[in-house]
Amino acid sequence: MKKTRIGIIGAGPSGLAQLRAFEAAKKEGHDVPEIVCIEKQSNWGGMWNYSWRTGVGKYGEPIHGSMYKYLWSNGPKECLEFSDYSFDEHFKKPISSYPPRPVLFDYIQGRIKKNNVRDYIRFDTTARWVSFDEESQKFTVVLDDLKIDKTYEEEFDYLIVASGHFSTPNMPYFKGIENFPGQVMHAHDFRGADPYKDQNLLIIGSSYSAEDIGVQCHKHGAKTVTLSYRSNPIGVNWPDGIKEVPLLTHFENDIAHFKDGTSEKYDAVIMCTGYQHKFPFLPDEMRLKTKNNLYPDNLYKGVFFNDLPRLIYLGMQDQYYTFNMFDTQAWVARDYMMGRYKLPSKKERRYDIDKWLKENDTLQSGNDHVDFQSAYIKDLLAISDYPDFNVDKVGVMFKEWLKDKDENILTYRDKTYQSVVTGTMAETHHTEWMDELDDSKERYLYQNESEEELSDTLEVTSI
Ligand code: FAD
Ligand code: NAP
Ligand code: MG
Repeated sequence: MKKTRIGIIGAGPSGLAQLRAFEAAKKEGHDVPEIVCIEKQSNWGGMWNYSWRTGVGKYGEPIHGSMYKYLWSNGPKECLEFSDYSFDEHFKKPISSYPPRPVLFDYIQGRIKKNNVRDYIRFDTTARWVSFDEESQKFTVVLDDLKIDKTYEEEFDYLIVASGHFSTPNMPYFKGIENFPGQVMHAHDFRGADPYKDQNLLIIGSSYSAEDIGVQCHKHGAKTVTLSYRSNPIGVNWPDGIKEVPLLTHFENDIAHFKDGTSEKYDAVIMCTGYQHKFPFLPDEMRLKTKNNLYPDNLYKGVFFNDLPRLIYLGMQDQYYTFNMFDTQAWVARDYMMGRYKLPSKKERRYDIDKWLKENDTLQSGNDHVDFQSAYIKDLLAISDYPDFNVDKVGVMFKEWLKDKDENILTYRDKTYQSVVTGTMAETHHTEWMDELDDSKERYLYQNESEEELSDTLEVTSI
């Protein structure tokens, strides 16, 4: 009999979670399906694989990455820890609760470098188009090998879409913006705060990108930062130099006018106006159509596309939980694909989805959102053997984090939390976040170690 074939689009944290889930089953002696993971970038890690490029890559593909220099975790690492691979196991010593991007990138890679997972991944390969044949119940995926400029096809029994949803900008129009003389761009293309030193910066949006890019630019020397909100202000205790104002109505050259009748002159504009769920490789009937929210419609258990459950989406929710949520999803998806978890009827699935959507509609505060996503994680944990972790305690940490940010947006990253996986209390970082201008892994991990120790440890953790 021919082996079941599984296609995974994307080798970011979600796609890698799926690969890890199958590796775990293999280790337990199960016969696992044949897996092909398609990744358009030259390396794994998705968003965490930093790209200095903007626009298009060397093969003309849209750049996936939206991360930037000086990006630090914006939530405690204890809230995202893999329950089958702890920070202690990876770093061999306690580290702080808010590591910079290169350190988290290193952690993500740690557990998969131990296996031959890399062999499953076809890098520099873009998924161009997907079709599904009702009769054979198979997907055909058209692929482009970017390096040799060759198109070919693969057939799969199951298809995992793990292509992320923070890559295609949502870029609204404001009257007069075409005559703004300075730089106008979206957060997707932001690569670091340095160009905004001594500038008056206007940021549009009131979510994580607005908050973090605003704070980073303040930290790295912008003269003033104005955040302009549509629905609700972020509303934390802003330091001098950062303020929030209602939505922009229009521009008059370099002057922005706001809804409250005020106006001000700016040097540059950054739209932190979110992203579109975009799947240019999927026909409309297989496409997930949703805004960024905690429970996208039409996904049973947040992953199985209800019209065609052999099509599985990972990580499509708005995210409080990240890496550990992708794991809990990938474990359930794996069990379904291996016949160990059976789906109820389409009608029952629809009923369950509606239950979550109804609940989602009632949420008001950040704390409600945390509770909702915690309940979702628990629901998934109950149906797979992904190692249980104390979700309630993580929920409490998320709420503490929201409070920390409220109290002081410049110092919340200096706080420490306790791991629910190992019980380890995080270290206070050697330098306060506001004074730390270097986000390299070496500076973060080895600041206090001799050069000899440094080279030993580097060997273990670098690619
Ligand atoms: P992604 O990481 O986006 O990976 C998707 C992968 O799919 C990419 O490698 C991409 O190249 C590939 N791909 C897409 N389309 C195709 C195609 N057609 N063919 C082949 N390959 C394709 N989370 C945190 O936990 N902490 C943080 O501090 C944090 N900071 C963030 C900062 C920013 C600016 C952004 C945008 C997100 C941040 N996140 C953070 C959330 C982040 O989205 C998740 O941590 C995680 O990267 C999501 O994983 P993913 O695999 O679902 O998607
Ligand atoms: P997001 O959370 O989806 O927020 C989008 C924002 O854009 C909302 O404030 C929304 O306002 C606003 N918006 C949309 N259309 C608008 C319009 N026409 N006019 C004005 N405002 C508009 O997106 P995000 O902030 O980019 O965050 C995406 C992800 O990146 C999150 O997972 C976040 O955690 C991550 N991130 C992390 C860091 C870090 O420090 N590690 C930094 C940046 C981002 P409404 O409220 O009115 O809808
Ligand atoms: Mg379980």
